[in-house]
Amino acid sequence: MKRVLSGLRPTGRPHIGNLLDALNNWRNLQDKYDCFFFVADWHFLTTAVEDIKNLPETIVDMVVDWMAVGIDPEKCTIFVQSNIKQHAELHLLFSMLISVSRLLRNPTFKEHVAELKLKELRKEKKKTVERIADATIERFLELVGEGFEKEKLKEKEYREILKVRLKESLLEGAFSIMGAEEEEISYGHLVSYGYLGYPVLQAADILIYKADYVPVGGDQLPHLELAREIAKRFNSIFSPVFPLPEPLLTSFPRVPGTDNRKMSKSYGNAILVTEDPNVLLEKVMGMYTDPEKIRKNDPGHPQRCPVFAYHQMFNKSKEMEIKEECTLGKRGCVQCKKEVAKAMIEYLAPYREKRNQILSEKKKITEVLKEGNKRAKEIAERTMEEVREAMSMWRD
Ligand code: SF4
Repeated sequence: MKRVLSGLRPTGRPHIGNLLDALNNWRNLQDKYDCFFFVADWHFLTTAVEDIKNLPETIVDMVVDWMAVGIDPEKCTIFVQSNIKQHAELHLLFSMLISVSRLLRNPTFKEHVAELKLKELRKEKKKTVERIADATIERFLELVGEGFEKEKLKEKEYREILKVRLKESLLEGAFSIMGAEEEEISYGHLVSYGYLGYPVLQAADILIYKADYVPVGGDQLPHLELAREIAKRFNSIFSPVFPLPEPLLTSFPRVPGTDNRKMSKSYGNAILVTEDPNVLLEKVMGMYTDPEKIRKNDPGHPQRCPVFAYHQMFNKSKEMEIKEECTLGKRGCVQCKKEVAKAMIEYLAPYREKRNQILSEKKKITEVLKEGNKRAKEIAERTMEEVREAMSMWRD
């Protein structure tokens, strides 16, 4: 059987975005390939070393949910990266085969740095920009209040929405102007040495198991390319130890968070796969919707609304009906949210039940990880023996 390797950082229990992109895919792959799925805890530390305190509990919690959605330890190997020390050894050896400038060119690294620079700028400039934005909004409302959609401007709700939208666009404009000056900001102190080497560790994760395939979305292709470059370099300098891994390209749906940004725990906009139904309902009821649809009979734009995106994912049979009713102003957002929450609760119910069942025999999870770690370690050590031999490393 061809081998597949994939991992997730232990950021906590998976959210529905993780389910729809990684986990559903893993569940299919485990029937066709020799799959190795791992908890990427060292990768987690590259950006969150201060959050290490509850990591063991978080790892168990996450693996319980993997199993709850159908990742089956009878069909695949589940392990924890940091338990297999051979990854670290190979990472170190690989780090001699790649230049710093190559790593600095990695698009993910560039994006991360750009984000950090912007954050830094935001911290410094936020107050000033907000003051400017507030003053401008007040002035704008004064100026247009008399003539511009006068009737609607009298309504408090409409004014509030207008204010928020104006403020958002002004802030965005101001920050993007400041972002344009980002080259002038030094960033070395913001990024860890570990983060720069992230793709090298990833290359070690993949190559140590001689994986044939790695499931990736288009944006992760550069990382896999780097792993292939390292493998080629190693094979040409020493001996052909590593097969070149191929991508298993998957098109993942964009899953919006409750605020319509990409779903991410760090944004506080995530809905967990095994979310308590009451919490799920509360989160959905507080969701962002089409800002132009204030009353039930206002025509809406479902394609701009994350509630509609959830209907498409969890309430597929009603998609067309909801789209039409929203567009024609025949559907209210409150009812629409209640319906989608109900559909989501039903869709996710089997996962919640399975989670409770797994939790009732918690010892089993430790055994699963122990077994997975053992299998992973054996294979990793076999590869490392070949690597040490090929490199003529010292051995007693
Ligand atoms: S009716 Fe539904 S789809 Fe339309 S804007 Fe409101 S919440 Fe979104």
